[in-house]
Parts: sequence; structure tokens; C-alpha cells
Amino acid sequence: MIKLTTENTAKAIERCRKLKPQVRFIADRIFSVKSSNNTNSYTVRFDVKDGEKFGQCECKASERRLVCYHIIGAATANIYRQSLKRQSA
Ligand SMILES: [Zn+2]
Repeated sequence: MIKLTTENTAKAIERCRKLKPQVRFIADRIFSVKSSNNTNSYTVRFDVKDGEKFGQCECKASERRLVCYHIIGAATANIYRQSLKRQSA
């Protein structure tokens, strides 16, 4: 898993804003994100340890320990989902 920081997510946030990948909710902290340049879908997983956020994707960039736009797309959906949960509680 890659630790998500403001520094290492900045580029991916920019790419995500441009590419607007489609995100599908699979299970708690697990999302499927569609690639913008082919028909692949990547599974993105999240974890939180000691208040630090971690993410992992199945794509090549993530294998090289880079934060890809799939992770950001899924993170955005995750934040939205958490806020909905809070509202209904
Ligand atoms: Zn990815």
C-alpha cells in the first residue's frame, strides 16, 4: 500500500480532474475505477492506519509505488460516501 500525502497525490489529482474516471463502489474501502484510455477497470483499495491514509491500485503506476488517478478517483468517491453515511446517521 502507498501512503497518501499532499505531495504525492498532487499530480494524480490534476490528472483525475481532467480524465474524470468512472468509479464504482464494490465494498467498504474497495472501488473499481475505469481506465480513461482503454476498457480496463482497476480495483482500488484503501486503508487507514494511525490516522494515515493508504491506497493501492492494480495498474502499472501503482506497481511502481506511484499514486495514480484511479486512487484519487476512488478516494473522491470514498469521501463522498463517508459524508453520506454521516448524514444518514
Ligand atoms: Zn491506478
